[in-house]
Amino acid sequence: MNIARILWPVKVLGPGNRIGIWVSGCGRRCPFCSNPELWHRKKEYEISVSQLREVISRIAAEHRVDGFTFSGGEPMDQAEELAELLSGISSISGDILIYSGYTLAQLKEKNDPAVNSVLKQVAVLIDGEYRDEENNNVLLRGSANQKIHILNEQLRRKYDEYLSSAVNQIQNFTVSGGIISVGIHHRGFSGGTL
Ligand code: SF4
Repeated sequence: MNIARILWPVKVLGPGNRIGIWVSGCGRRCPFCSNPELWHRKKEYEISVSQLREVISRIAAEHRVDGFTFSGGEPMDQAEELAELLSGISSISGDILIYSGYTLAQLKEKNDPAVNSVLKQVAVLIDGEYRDEENNNVLLRGSANQKIHILNEQLRRKYDEYLSSAVNQIQNFTVSGGIISVGIHHRGFSGGTL
């Protein structure tokens, strides 16, 4: 896979202490995207599914992991490897949330076995392109056109409770190259990560 960042504990993109994974590579080019640095795949970001699973297992062995959040970049552009990864990490937590610039309808229309496999394993999909003019601080989403789809009924109650009480927050991580700002940013923000 092409993975730019793996962070723990991400607390602002879903309930609990989550492992956040940002893929690199996205062909959508939404104007004013807050993560343009993740539009291109990079050789140094290449990691095999088994290596990534190993990293995740090591984090989970030492820390509490309440779920996973995948963003990017476009996770669904790496659907085949993502499907394989999800089947290997669901035993850690089935609370898997994915952000995609594609709508759920567009993903279903693809009729792609790998995409369908991802959708079967995902608990929550937050879908749709980023529209800067609709960035009005809607919960968990960059813009109001994006929708939260709870695809795993077993987690509906958990998410209903979470969504009724959560507020958008920003969380900053100090990393070797500087600071990564995670969360739902206001219009005009550039250089962080959703
Ligand atoms: S907002 Fe998301 S889907 Fe749009 S260009 Fe940026 S990374 Fe791609």
